[in-house]
Amino acid sequence: MSTIFHRIINRELPADIVYEDEHLIAFRDIAPQAPVHVLFVPKVDVATLNDLAPDQAEVVGRLAVAAAAYAKREGFAEDGYRIVMNCNEDGGQTVFQIHLHLLAGAPLGRFGT
Ligand code: IMP
Repeated sequence: MSTIFHRIINRELPADIVYEDEHLIAFRDIAPQAPVHVLFVPKVDVATLNDLAPDQAEVVGRLAVAAAAYAKREGFAEDGYRIVMNCNEDGGQTVFQIHLHLLAGAPLGRFGT
């Protein structure tokens, strides 16, 4: 499996990386939908949320924990933020390596991004 995000993880494509550890990488979305728009991507290959095995729950858990930690570090955790995961066509997924969107920096609409 190779997507744009794998190529960013492997440093084959540039990205504005804001966090990385042995499990995941986080970088700014190239087409931001909010003043803060960061993508959290696991390093293990999982194409969609449908492909996440029951014993891989920690993969998504780590993305959420890393997003909250980033929000606290950057000082907008109290104001608030939104996390989103899109799945397949109707969900609007365009890159088939699971990722969590973190959106913040302005009041967000009730639905959508
Ligand atoms: P999805 O629609 O949930 O799959 O989200 C994919 C996201 O990746 C979109 O918000 C795109 O703007 C973003 N994106 C696509 N290519 C790049 C890139 O090279 N760097 C950073 N973000 C990207």
